[in-house]
Amino acid sequence: MQLTNRSKVVVKKEMSWAEKLYLPAIFGGMAITFKHMFKKPATVKYPEETREVSQVYRGVHVLKRDEQGRENCTACGLCAVSCPAEAITMEAAERKKGEEHLYREEKYAAKYEINMLRCIFCGLCEEACPKDAIYLTDRIIDSKYTRSGFIYGKDKLVEGVAPEERVDISKRKKKYEFS
Ligand code: SF4
Ligand code: SF4
Repeated sequence: MQLTNRSKVVVKKEMSWAEKLYLPAIFGGMAITFKHMFKKPATVKYPEETREVSQVYRGVHVLKRDEQGRENCTACGLCAVSCPAEAITMEAAERKKGEEHLYREEKYAAKYEINMLRCIFCGLCEEACPKDAIYLTDRIIDSKYTRSGFIYGKDKLVEGVAPEERVDISKRKKKYEFS
């Protein structure tokens, strides 16, 4: 009995004499291979070569500093709350006297971690941040054969103080200007 009217009886067709030789199929396959030898390859030799990515590509995060080199993050936790993958954890601390040159706000993230194995690079942390502190960048996460070392701490996330160590996020900021 048929369960639906879309079922179809499949009949195994007898192979013709030419098909039994397999030669036409082999030559057909070789012709396709030969044709592709002269086409531009669709792949790149990563990591030596990288593809140009979109202006709003969502890669590894950066924790930004202000013009004076102070960390912008005030450990408010909004990024962690907005993260659907629960990838962000942090520990807040009070800024002490004499640390005004290190942290912009009175509260800062003494510890800030993103589990890159959990992160889905959705960008919601970036959108939730009220302090211009976290942005996704065009940097690609390092690949590895083991699961260790994918919890990125402040050492990997906070940008350097020197001008050449700053991460340019001006293109991403434009996205918010137009949205
Ligand atoms: S990009 Fe998305 S998943 Fe990754 S840390 Fe930010 S909010 Fe979480
Ligand atoms: S990165 Fe932004 S949203 Fe996340 S804790 Fe710091 S200030 Fe708050």
